[in-house]
Amino acid sequence: MITVDLDLVRKYDISAPRYTSYPTAVEFREFNPTAPLLSHLDRSNRDGSLPLSLYFHLPFCETLCWFCGCTTVITTSRSAADTYLDYLEKEIALLASRVHPDRRVVQLHYGGGTPTFFQPPQLARLAELTRRHFKFAPDAELSVEVDPRRLSHAQVIALRESGFNRASLGVQDFNPQVQEAVHRIQPRAMTEQVISWLRTERFTSINLDLIYGLPYQTVDSFADTLAQVLELNPDRLAVFSYAHVPWMKPAQKLLEREAALPSPETKLAMLKLITETLTSRGYVYIGMDHFARETDELAVAQAAGTLQRNFQGYSTRAGVEILAFGISAISQTPFSYRQNHKTLLPYYAALDRGEVPASRGLELSEEDARRREIIMRVMCHLRLDYAALSREFGADFATRYATELARLQPLANDGLVELSATGLKVTELGRLFLRNIAVCFDAYYAPESKRHSRTV
Ligand code: SF4
Repeated sequence: MITVDLDLVRKYDISAPRYTSYPTAVEFREFNPTAPLLSHLDRSNRDGSLPLSLYFHLPFCETLCWFCGCTTVITTSRSAADTYLDYLEKEIALLASRVHPDRRVVQLHYGGGTPTFFQPPQLARLAELTRRHFKFAPDAELSVEVDPRRLSHAQVIALRESGFNRASLGVQDFNPQVQEAVHRIQPRAMTEQVISWLRTERFTSINLDLIYGLPYQTVDSFADTLAQVLELNPDRLAVFSYAHVPWMKPAQKLLEREAALPSPETKLAMLKLITETLTSRGYVYIGMDHFARETDELAVAQAAGTLQRNFQGYSTRAGVEILAFGISAISQTPFSYRQNHKTLLPYYAALDRGEVPASRGLELSEEDARRREIIMRVMCHLRLDYAALSREFGADFATRYATELARLQPLANDGLVELSATGLKVTELGRLFLRNIAVCFDAYYAPESKRHSRTV
């Protein structure tokens, strides 16, 4: 069990990136459709060896949850999904034509929005057109985010028939008063029913998402939610700290009309409760809000050194290139990032012109790529082997990054990392402070910047 020291948590509560990419998305610049970014895609396709991870952003939601920080389109019109599929088809055809035919898809993820806004024939259409353009590895992982309020058994069957075998369910909190305050009514029985359907249809990994820091939550009320969640026996849990950013997400202002949001001290106590409860009940703390059973592939991949971090959080497959489709979706090659338009009209207009519908992106320098590798190893493998990195980088690691290693010394003094002549190791306690450790290697980080969420 990890014991949480609240004094340390207070000391290390800074504004820092979550490192789903490096450099982070705030460094992306305007995208020029003729820019070298697309040549990176072509470079990856000179042979068929680099595996692919596909991501589809399916943005529609019937109603808005007031805490939401995702890129969404609120509508009840099912035909909106048909139009969107027409454009996804154009985007897939445009990009697949540049992909080497021997490349294999090892991962596919539907995120949102609410992917289960799409009805069974729409889900079947998307699966069919994806398989028409890409070849899948036999052991590919197919995962989907589902909203238990918008899911039928028929949709679960459609997803299973399309090859999906992992699901992530938004729960947030079981307390009815909290659910009402955040405009998301989802009785426990609804979540239980969905889990039962998923297990009947042989989904092998079920994740539940929770959020702490919402109106009316207390340490006691959240302890009750956690106890109920544990009864459902999920394979993984993601427990996020609510980020209140009403200047970016104006609907979040609605939460201020409710009971006061929990104080920072209450949130700290909840963090302690969550970490200590879950790690004492057989879950491994992977890092960055994610917990998994020891037998779950996420924990297995971490132990095997194949865990990776990307825009969807943690992923079990290292060394893949991400091809992402739909509004706001971010694609990643070994030396570039490319983000699509965040709203429908410019996204549709670019595809009507036959252009890649990207609006922002970034070309990585050699130094960016080296630092990305270091930061991802800290976030995923929880260690750095200096000799291995020196070989890969063609220069002595400890000499080259002496300033960064010196920055880590106070964290070592507080027991978050162990530094030796041969490497760095994140301690059990240090798993709670991965961002604080990673930020020491971030060449773009400005401590006074408020562009990132707090580490707690
Ligand atoms: S269902 Fe999910 S994506 Fe849609 S508004 Fe609610 S939290 Fe946001």
